[in-house]
Amino acid sequence: MTDRLYYTDAYAVEFDADVTACAPAGDRFAVTLSATAFYPTSGGQPHDLGQLGGRAVMDVVDEEDGRLVHLIDGPLDAGTRVHGAIDWARRFDHMQQHTGQHVLSAAFETICKARTESFHLGTTSATIDLGRPVSAQEIAAAEDDANRVVWQDRDVCVRFVSAEEAATLPLRKESGRTGMLRLVDVTDYDLSACGGTHVARTGGIGLISVTGWEKFKGGTRVEFRCGGRALAQLREWRDALAAANRALSVSAAELAPAIERLQDENKALARSVRAFQEQLAGHVAAGLVTTAARVGDRVVVAQALDGWDAVGLKAIAASVAATPGACAAVFSTSQPALVVVARAADVPVDAGAVLKGLVAQFGGKGGGKADLAQGGGLTGDVAAIVEAARAALAQ
Ligand SMILES: [Zn+2]
Repeated sequence: MTDRLYYTDAYAVEFDADVTACAPAGDRFAVTLSATAFYPTSGGQPHDLGQLGGRAVMDVVDEEDGRLVHLIDGPLDAGTRVHGAIDWARRFDHMQQHTGQHVLSAAFETICKARTESFHLGTTSATIDLGRPVSAQEIAAAEDDANRVVWQDRDVCVRFVSAEEAATLPLRKESGRTGMLRLVDVTDYDLSACGGTHVARTGGIGLISVTGWEKFKGGTRVEFRCGGRALAQLREWRDALAAANRALSVSAAELAPAIERLQDENKALARSVRAFQEQLAGHVAAGLVTTAARVGDRVVVAQALDGWDAVGLKAIAASVAATPGACAAVFSTSQPALVVVARAADVPVDAGAVLKGLVAQFGGKGGGKADLAQGGGLTGDVAAIVEAARAALAQ
């Protein structure tokens, strides 16, 4: 059994202990100690990082036999005394989130009668899953009460009791464990069996901020950030909001209606561009027919056109094909190129086959019928693509 210093002192950053064993474990070394301040991954809280005897601690694992295994990047000699130091910034962040979770879960239980089913502490945010759906008003009420408790700076005490004694106490969640239980007591607010690390007073949590929520398994998944993470999130949102405000020259409160207004304007613009394109397509097609090469009595249009999208190219090709005896292959000048092939009913050319031949030669994809086919993704010299199409249409 490893003596777990964090059980009684979550603020122990440095310590000395004896190496009881060291064995290779893949590309790492598994080390056990007589005592440790390193917290293992357990109860929803990630493990500590840090230094041990000059080596980097990469992972800390809680074994079922009570041993606590440190996975480090080099060997240590068994029997020697080593100095350890945990990464305090990482640990304190976990302590803020974890203690905040106790208080927030108790607030949801007290204010909304919503039970916490599970807890996850991630790298940027933490979540609790509530057993029933909660409204925005209920979330705000629980958040308010949780922060009231934070700002009252109540003691967070740890004590050990037998499972029998624990059964007589008002624990927020009954524990399935036997033997001695470690209880974490947020004075007059939350009593839970927990092996994690916590701040000594609720003031150390700083702030509990609910940063999002969603429906989850018939209940609600609540995302929250405490202390330093809440501050980091506030900064991120402040900068994003300031950039958006500058771009639109409006205040934060005016942002959503300003975006809606822009979207409406954009849709209206797209509609009028489309209408102009359709009108223009007819004129462009007429010009192409006038200047097109004649192959016998066939009018062959093959041209790359600047500034047209797939819909516009299709309108032009179809407009050319409305002329008896005409066929067309029109391309975008952008790379990879868009293409539309069309022919009049009296022209014995298979538009689909022409497109297929172009795709075989220049890549991309597409398809269609004998009278109209379209595609995209063609790459290569535009003049060469156009010339290949002209040759295919002339056959
Ligand atoms: Zn805890």
